[in-house]
Amino acid sequence: MQTIRGFRDILPEKISLWQKVEKEATHLFKSFGFKEIRIPIIEKTQLFARSIGEVTDIVEKEMYTFEDRKGDKLTLRPEATASIVRSYIQHKMYATDPIRKFYMVGPMFRRERPQKGRYRQFYQIDAEIFGVESAYVDSQLIFLLNQLFKRLGLTGLSAHINSLGCPECRPSFQKVLLDFIESKKDMLCENCLRRMDKNPLRILDCKIENCRNAIAHAPATLDHLCNECSDHFNTVKKALETQGVDFIVDKSLVRGLDYYTRTAWEIQTTTLGAQSAVAGGGRYDGLVKELGGPQTPAIGFAIGFDRLVEVMEQIDKIPEPLPLDLFIISLGDTAMEKGYHWSCELNQKGIRTEIDFRGKSLKALMKRADKLAARYVLIAGENELIENAIILRNMNTKEQVSLSMEDMIPELIKIFKK
Ligand code: AMP
Repeated sequence: MQTIRGFRDILPEKISLWQKVEKEATHLFKSFGFKEIRIPIIEKTQLFARSIGEVTDIVEKEMYTFEDRKGDKLTLRPEATASIVRSYIQHKMYATDPIRKFYMVGPMFRRERPQKGRYRQFYQIDAEIFGVESAYVDSQLIFLLNQLFKRLGLTGLSAHINSLGCPECRPSFQKVLLDFIESKKDMLCENCLRRMDKNPLRILDCKIENCRNAIAHAPATLDHLCNECSDHFNTVKKALETQGVDFIVDKSLVRGLDYYTRTAWEIQTTTLGAQSAVAGGGRYDGLVKELGGPQTPAIGFAIGFDRLVEVMEQIDKIPEPLPLDLFIISLGDTAMEKGYHWSCELNQKGIRTEIDFRGKSLKALMKRADKLAARYVLIAGENELIENAIILRNMNTKEQVSLSMEDMIPELIKIFKK
């Protein structure tokens, strides 16, 4: 049996970088006032179709959708924002305190073509803020990402930012865009032609080379913003500048989800080949209302956890696991029983202790202690029990001392808690 294409195991040898990133991220989120939220892995298909947009790659081609036994259409979550918005509305959070900050870490599912940095089950670290319209929040989130990457020691990342406008300025932009696209019709793929009527903005996100060439000089939302959106974007830029966050204004950045309004951004790296986006986010001021809640401004981002770890693997050594403190060698049935109790007690005290229950010889078990790189070995055979003198061997210096059973545990705690 093998994993399904695009799905993979993250093995224990690799996990410490994942843990390091998650620890750093959650620590930072907490200092910015975010609270953890956990959301289901499966939701009604309609939730994603309505929020991400019917005419997007994710909804048209990439979702894992199935009917359950009752015929309900369900989908493995391809992203977290839609579910968090659903939760915000379902629990009427807006009524008690409309301003909420959430983070979550977990797997997402998209049936994309797998390659390095692109998987069908991948992980995201996600943060969302509800209830604040101010442009300072946009900058604050980009600042937060910048801080996180700095703390992880990453360089060579750049923040690309753009403004996608709002329902006020978008219709007139769409007209200008459609006029332009009409003149390039011959060069566009079938998918783009189909999207012309339904969702022309998506054409700007097509990955096919011919289409990319055709739209290279397409009009940009940034040049067609209303005054409010323009002021908003200027404030974001200024606030980033004053905090010393480098950014690139990227007029061609549109992101692959329909719900974005105003500021959208991506953190890109040059070191991952085609899969250059390590994180992406944006404002979605219309989504809470669209899904049945009151008008509530909101904004968020998702970090591609797999990609972030891949970038870190290029610069960071996988941290060494902590060494084993003690390996217990119990020879004979009575010693095995004693050893079992000692190991339980020491593990409970937080001392990294292992015992081998297979009844192997002293020689075999010393080899095992070496393999596990144990700092100390405790040797208890029939004689040691009769004489109440258990041997403690320092594997580094090869020195041995004997301990009475009464003093042994406190003695060991003293050694290891130093
Ligand atoms: P999105 O939810 O599309 O805005 O993506 C946010 C981030 O998730 C991207 O910048 C990527 O780093 C990561 N990501 C998206 N799709 C995948 C995938 N199929 N495999 C790995 N990472 C992904």
